[in-house]
Amino acid sequence: MQSRMQLESVLRRIDGRGYKAYKDIEGTYDFGNFILHIDHVQGDPFASPSRIRVVIPQKVAGFPQELYSSKPRKKGLEDFLTRQISKNIPKIVKGNRGTGKSGQISIISVGQEILNRTSVLVSDVSVEARLTMGLPARGRTILSGQAMEMLFGELPRLVEQSLIYRNLDSDALLKHVNLAEDQWVLRSKIKEMGLVAFVANGSILPRRSGVDDRPMESGAVPFKSPPELEVMVKLPHAGKVWGMGIPKGITLIVGGGYHGKSTLLRAIERGVYDHIPGDGRELVVTVEDAVKIRAEDGRRVEKVDISPFINNLPNGESTTSFSTENASGSTSQAANIMEALEIGTSLLLIDEDTSATNFMIRDARMQRLVHKDSEPITPFIDRVEELYEQLGVSTIIVVGGSGDYFDVAHRIIMMENYVAKDVTAIAKAIAQEYRTDRKKEGGGQPIRITQRIPIPHSLSLKGRKKIKSRGLDNIQYGHTNLVLDDVEQLVDVNQTRAIGDIIRYAMENYMDGKTTLREIIQKVCRDIDEKGLDVISPFKGLYPGDYAQPRPQEIGAAINRLRILKVKQESVK
Ligand code: ADP
Ligand code: MG
Repeated sequence: MQSRMQLESVLRRIDGRGYKAYKDIEGTYDFGNFILHIDHVQGDPFASPSRIRVVIPQKVAGFPQELYSSKPRKKGLEDFLTRQISKNIPKIVKGNRGTGKSGQISIISVGQEILNRTSVLVSDVSVEARLTMGLPARGRTILSGQAMEMLFGELPRLVEQSLIYRNLDSDALLKHVNLAEDQWVLRSKIKEMGLVAFVANGSILPRRSGVDDRPMESGAVPFKSPPELEVMVKLPHAGKVWGMGIPKGITLIVGGGYHGKSTLLRAIERGVYDHIPGDGRELVVTVEDAVKIRAEDGRRVEKVDISPFINNLPNGESTTSFSTENASGSTSQAANIMEALEIGTSLLLIDEDTSATNFMIRDARMQRLVHKDSEPITPFIDRVEELYEQLGVSTIIVVGGSGDYFDVAHRIIMMENYVAKDVTAIAKAIAQEYRTDRKKEGGGQPIRITQRIPIPHSLSLKGRKKIKSRGLDNIQYGHTNLVLDDVEQLVDVNQTRAIGDIIRYAMENYMDGKTTLREIIQKVCRDIDEKGLDVISPFKGLYPGDYAQPRPQEIGAAINRLRILKVKQESVK
């Protein structure tokens, strides 16, 4: 390891030289209170900024062990420290000074979720933060003076104010960590209680806008459980909390337009993740494998057995091994369900706003006019009970438009002026009085889930082709653009970035033409659990600070949407 003085002397030597000379500062330096790793120096001032790490011995950082003594607490602490750095950067770092990215110091951007990330890592031994830094230049001429200001002035101050325990707001920190643990406990408790989701009384569900995930600022009506569904859960830190428990089975959310149905469902969708204090959804928690299902016309589908929902297509195409470059609303929704079941889920979440009507319902009159023989679709209403009875898969559906679902629902919640009411008894009485006379379709055959095996060479990246994520919804995979716009539970750009590298990791380690997609994803997730998210990085010795952990469901969704994917179906045993 070199000293800080040595770094300074290299910087003095290369001052005024061409940008490439910055390469000379790659290495590890002892800064006294911390160690600085300059892992990768950018090629020019406009390129992705240089990657650095600061590692502070725990003896110096001084975090009490109880703050990272379990996985959820460690995740909460690391998330808090990431946000602390993010908050302090604009206060401490002067920012742009020179060409391109000169002068910037950054850490990943974060949203409302507490996720497992690689931006900050805490252990008994040390606290490590992974940052990027735009090494300053004018044109392509190195500005060592500015670099020294950043490395010897700003960086140590940033470390001092963000990563040393005694300098932090210990109450806010403890609250963050405790909340992360409470959410983890709550998610496991609801399962023991036979629930699929819990929405605490007082939760603020609406968001600031369609593009701003922070809570609505004023005028939000806090959530209150209907008495019939109210349950109490005891949490380690929050103590006793009351709220609406949605049991397993089939639950409808009904109500007039604009009365808050989709807002409730969206909060439940996001309940698979933990949220930061003040989010409003801190104690809105859903079973972790819940999947939002929607229509997604235009998507590609590769050999999915959609026959539980679609049969006898007019072109005679198979639906037990259905492929298309351009799915319709109904076939895409059927494929989305079958793929979710294949990867594994215990709860489907469906909103009429984003569903294909003909997939959801065919009423009695339409059944009379269009004979079943010329209708390929078995609507969801005729499968939803079997999904629960045969496979134990629950469903929560938002429907404002069709009362036919009253017959199959176990529970009906009405949203009225943003207030939830249990209207199960009334709706069931209406269903008795006004029979729909529709005939159940599908004939009750068992719902078969066919596992599929990816063919490895279909995904191979020859030569110098790269994987690069762009924002939340796009991954450039070699020459193919993978579009994830309609994967609604993908919430963080850093998850998208991780998924890109996970696909490569899965291909290099587990795709062998024999292993099913479900098993491949399980193996990758087990590696991540055991070894940390760094394991998916393709560059050994380069420590990415910009991964956030995706769920198996979103990894599967991404692979299934790759337009070059080829699979074979596993033969039925
Ligand atoms: P629906 O699906 O029933 O048509 P939405 O859930 O889309 O209704 O909500 C309609 C509007 O009401 C949205 O702009 C949403 O932000 C707002 N909203 C939803 N829930 C609340 C609430 N609890 N308090 C205040 N406004 C809300
Ligand atoms: Mg709606």
